[in-house]
Amino acid sequence: MVEGILKGDVTTLSRAVTLVESLAPAHQAIAQEVIEKCLPYSGNSRRIGITGVPGAGKSTSIDVFGLHVLRQGGRLAVLAIDPSSERTKGSILGDKTRMEKLSLEQDAFIRPSPSAGSLGGVARKTRETIVLCEAAGFDNIFVETVGVGQSETAVHSMVDFFLLIQLAGTGDELQGIKRGIMEMADGIVINKADGDNIPRAQLAQAQFKNALHLFPMPESGWLPEVLTYSGYYELGIPEVWDMIDRYFEFVKANGYFDLRRARQARYWMYETINEQLRANFYGDPEIEAMLAAKEARVLASQQSSFTAAKDVLDIYFKKNSLNI
Ligand code: GDP
Repeated sequence: MVEGILKGDVTTLSRAVTLVESLAPAHQAIAQEVIEKCLPYSGNSRRIGITGVPGAGKSTSIDVFGLHVLRQGGRLAVLAIDPSSERTKGSILGDKTRMEKLSLEQDAFIRPSPSAGSLGGVARKTRETIVLCEAAGFDNIFVETVGVGQSETAVHSMVDFFLLIQLAGTGDELQGIKRGIMEMADGIVINKADGDNIPRAQLAQAQFKNALHLFPMPESGWLPEVLTYSGYYELGIPEVWDMIDRYFEFVKANGYFDLRRARQARYWMYETINEQLRANFYGDPEIEAMLAAKEARVLASQQSSFTAAKDVLDIYFKKNSLNI
């Protein structure tokens, strides 16, 4: 499998990703071995996170951004983190039809979000899939997420550049958008700057620029840029990409690129530990039964939250210390 991946064989890559996504322990064991062996061949890509609320134009934009990237040479993998998918529930066909042009390209690998599990679990699988894609020679990775929850933070923790797609229109666009997301963005792009909408897009651009000036300078030393474009009419696409090129040049020169990746590696170590501890704890049938009983007692005010938690944890630790 590793050989196939390193040769860039997409069928093998897909099979490996399926193992990564599988919940079966036997599949997980193979997947981890494959990832470990691919790791030395990974890292050599630009990882770009793309977020925006539903309807912002992510699919349309990824389609044209992707083609633009492919025209410059190289290969592109499009991944997603979308745990509470309202859309296609992980159907490949669904994602392929969302990105019509890209899906016809030989050098594009489009993989929908892993569908099972918690956000942390889904995100970790996407993070692992990045390793496999890079080992298979994909030197551009897009990670898409719907900008409505916690998943932006997860994407931010695995990409080099975080692109926020916004829309103009109501005049109070800044109100609905969470400060945290804006602070994460390395670039903000206002989509649908076409036809009658151009003046509004430009107004939104000015508003976002002003808002960004009120934030402290990001640690990267890069002041996020705000651009307008039209995904649908393919206007302003090279400009968006020039900005991203400049960002990469900038952070590679000042060392922030490596710093960010090192921190992300550390983050994922702890995330993986946390997630697996949680899964091990909550997946234990005895603990599950005890939790139900304790929960009832806490709800009925027969026991305090803290002593109930302590009782369950004591049992868990006792069981597990015997297992060593
Ligand atoms: P997503 O939910 O973020 O993936 O958004 P889509 O890419 O599905 O786009 C939502 C709707 O906006 C679709 O009807 C698109 O045709 C439309 N749309 C996307 N980009 C543009 C654009 O640049 N200009 C205009 N006018 N419409 C667009």
